[in-house]
Amino acid sequence: MDFALTEEQTLIFDMAKGFGEEHIAPFAQDWEAAGTIPKTLWPQIAELGLGGIYVSEAYGGSGLSRLDATLVFEALAMSCPSVGSFLSIHNMCGGMIDKFGSEETKQKWLPDLCAMNKVFSYCLTEPGSGSDASALKTRAERSNEGYVLNGTKAFISGGSYSDAYVCMVRTGEDGPKGISTVVVEDGTDGLSFGALEKKMGWLAQPTSQVQFDDCKVPADNLIGEEGKGFSYAMNGLDGGRLNISASALGGAQKALDMTVQYMSERKAFGKSINQFQALQFRLAEYETKLQAARTFLRQAAWKLDNGDHDATKFCAMAKLMVTDVSFEVANGCLQLHGGYGYLADYGIEKIVRDLRVHQILEGTNEIMRLIISRQMIAA
Ligand SMILES: Cc1cc2nc3c(=O)[nH]c(=O)nc-3n(C[C@H](O)[C@H](O)[C@H](O)COP(=O)(O)OP(=O)(O)OC[C@H]3O[C@@H](n4cnc5c(N)ncnc54)[C@H](O)[C@@H]3O)c2cc1C
Repeated sequence: MDFALTEEQTLIFDMAKGFGEEHIAPFAQDWEAAGTIPKTLWPQIAELGLGGIYVSEAYGGSGLSRLDATLVFEALAMSCPSVGSFLSIHNMCGGMIDKFGSEETKQKWLPDLCAMNKVFSYCLTEPGSGSDASALKTRAERSNEGYVLNGTKAFISGGSYSDAYVCMVRTGEDGPKGISTVVVEDGTDGLSFGALEKKMGWLAQPTSQVQFDDCKVPADNLIGEEGKGFSYAMNGLDGGRLNISASALGGAQKALDMTVQYMSERKAFGKSINQFQALQFRLAEYETKLQAARTFLRQAAWKLDNGDHDATKFCAMAKLMVTDVSFEVANGCLQLHGGYGYLADYGIEKIVRDLRVHQILEGTNEIMRLIISRQMIAA
């Protein structure tokens, strides 16, 4: 058993961290205020090979592992969890197309996806179905040319911003087996968007409903086979949950690093606040929790890379544990900053706001408990 990162993995982490420090962190607060991320950022990120992290090299991807991806997202989140997580959703779409698309489908979408000439969003949730995702109602009727979509997707990260939407739609019976996956390109007739959602965190990314009104999609925009879309969506989420966890971890680590520094500078009762043992113990607890979360996350990623039979359970356990611990640590770091933690200039309150949603999306942490316990009982 070897817990060390390889030299290449250390380089991947350092490269992503360095890029974030130069090209993301200095602008993160402005992008929050603007409610959007400049599209010029994406080709720069793609040049580093981060547009299609686990897409095969034959289609312009980097062909890296899920474990490598967790390093990228942990490192980028240290500059801004919202920007890093947005890239993670684009990569989740790339992974699904690479794994389940036909040769023609891959040729059609992946080169632009990897170069980030096209930014992709993932559309599963609907106004009436979130946790119970297989109850989705957006209909895709077969036509001579392809499919005609009618329905609404809710909470879509990148809604009205992205260039293409990977959509789970109903082509058949009720339940998971009647669901297929199609790509809808921006500008398609019948595709429109709701107003931008006003949110607590992840403010740099636009979130909106995505609406289909007799939206006509060519037949070759189908990914893989009809009726298998739900399993593709869930498969994508295994890796997505690792990335969302890694982003939470990176945000929390940044908050803790800033807190250690702050506590050496801030004085109360005639001494630096890092001299109070009660507060020292809090640092020790946070450090231990984050290191444990990191080890567990990487084990889950390793299981997914190896196709272990219990990889889905481990991805769910990692998501539950890492996102809960990360939020707790970030929130505790805000407390250790006193009133200053509540001020935007200190950067901690943004991390707390950003990390809260990691406990909710890509399956709530209650749904993670459901996945874990179901598998335990089935075994
Ligand atoms: C900022 C943001 C961005 C998002 N981005 C995307 C995106 O890009 N694409 C996308 O498809 N979706 C996206 N989502 C949607 C997200 O995945 C859902 O909000 C999430 O899955 C929960 O669904 P829901 O909001 O409908 O809650 P509900 O399913 O209505 O759940 C409400 C509460 O009940 C609990 N609950 C439900 N069922 C059970 C059960 N069986 N047992 C125990 N507890 C249960 C839930 O855990 C939750 O606490 C995003 C959400 C947010 C907030």
